[in-house]
Amino acid sequence: MTTLFQPDLLFTGGHFQAGAGLLVDAGGTIAGIKNAAQATVLAADTQIVRLPGKALLPGFVNVHSHAFQRLIRGRTEARRSGGHDFWSWRGEMYHAAASLTPEEMYRVARMAFLEMALAGTTTVGEFHYVHRLPDGQPYPDPNLLAHQVIAAAQSVGIRIALLRAAYQRAGYELPPDPGQTRFLETTEEFLTNVDALHRQYHSTEAWVGVAPHSVRAVPIEAVREITAWAHEHRLPVHMHVSEQVAEVEACQREYGVTPVRLLAQHRVLSERFTAVHAIHIDQEEMDMLAASRATICSCPTTERNLGDGIFPAREVMDRGISIAFGSDSQAQIEPLEDARELEYHLRLQRQQRSLLDGIDGQELSLRLFRCATANGAAALGCATGELEAGKQADFFTVDLDDVSIAGNSDEDLLPAIVFGMNRSAIADVAIGGKFLVRDHRHPQQQEILKEYQEVARKVWHAPQLAAK
Ligand SMILES: [Zn+2]
Repeated sequence: MTTLFQPDLLFTGGHFQAGAGLLVDAGGTIAGIKNAAQATVLAADTQIVRLPGKALLPGFVNVHSHAFQRLIRGRTEARRSGGHDFWSWRGEMYHAAASLTPEEMYRVARMAFLEMALAGTTTVGEFHYVHRLPDGQPYPDPNLLAHQVIAAAQSVGIRIALLRAAYQRAGYELPPDPGQTRFLETTEEFLTNVDALHRQYHSTEAWVGVAPHSVRAVPIEAVREITAWAHEHRLPVHMHVSEQVAEVEACQREYGVTPVRLLAQHRVLSERFTAVHAIHIDQEEMDMLAASRATICSCPTTERNLGDGIFPAREVMDRGISIAFGSDSQAQIEPLEDARELEYHLRLQRQQRSLLDGIDGQELSLRLFRCATANGAAALGCATGELEAGKQADFFTVDLDDVSIAGNSDEDLLPAIVFGMNRSAIADVAIGGKFLVRDHRHPQQQEILKEYQEVARKVWHAPQLAAK
């Protein structure tokens, strides 16, 4: 049976269309866009779902998430807990990573994915690097924690690309770090485990990619080997690149070149490659990324929270490099906040406005919205992010009378959404034409919250209670 979703406004082809409907087949794929006249001659068994007072848009794709880091939100904003830089923040993050059982990993991931769903996110790329028991031994199934995270996404109802991360060392000339015990695997172990995971998950709901953590944590020979495996299986390759100046300097000491140059020299860059962050890169490195047709995943809400630096979005976009977004540390889960920050950081830095407008003749809001949707889908290798025939029917609706966007015309609605919409406007979220959020509510919301609160209490308060 096909379904026709009929909102007041449908976002397709880069603009809002009044009276258009989204026709979805029984398998959850978009069969076409129907205008009001065409909608009257549909097959008799077509179910019509009217969405009055709402606009319908493609769901967001969150390309870079570490779900368990939802636990450290609010824990690291003072110097006494988070220290004064990225590296001291990381210590607190390792505390969260060290203490979770498989069941708790599931509960925390569900909480993060629930929040993503409520924010209009329909697909997540989970950069997953916690693999082992706290003492460093493998679980009887070395993919146990990956299964837990995938199960969490499936229970919430969003699609997941499990980007299984390789992690081999603390860094060049650094002694082993006890905080990283649960992450470590040899190249051989990693390839065996990711291969098993890929055999199990290769559907449009859950699939696998690889993620050599960074040039700091994975020596270049291993990065090459892992990338070769991914290319053989036509899977995405994601990697943290040049987030911190110290990481760039260590790479120069070890290899004599900066990270992007190193990856280019070793043919790691390709159209399947996504460089996460890529903040501290020079003009020539941008040219290398552009030539390889790699994507950059920017994570502005995390980068501003951690004080990483300002992403050179204008220079990157001028070269035609595709940019996507990730919620990364879960400091906030707001895809549109990431989108607007890309532009806002430049405004503060350069004391000008609309810096990303007009590149290749494309309007600013549309460009940022595409980064949050279609570009993300390309980076994860899935057929979503746009409302057009043949794509999966993943979408969200917004209440047109929500106080944050009410009163706008069809022409200025997209800029109003990108620059001013509050999450409170997001009413429904659907994957493959099936609602997982309806009228602002996810059916498992209360249960997920309660189970998450128990974990948070254990991780942050139990040791203090025991000490008293
Ligand atoms: Zn990250």
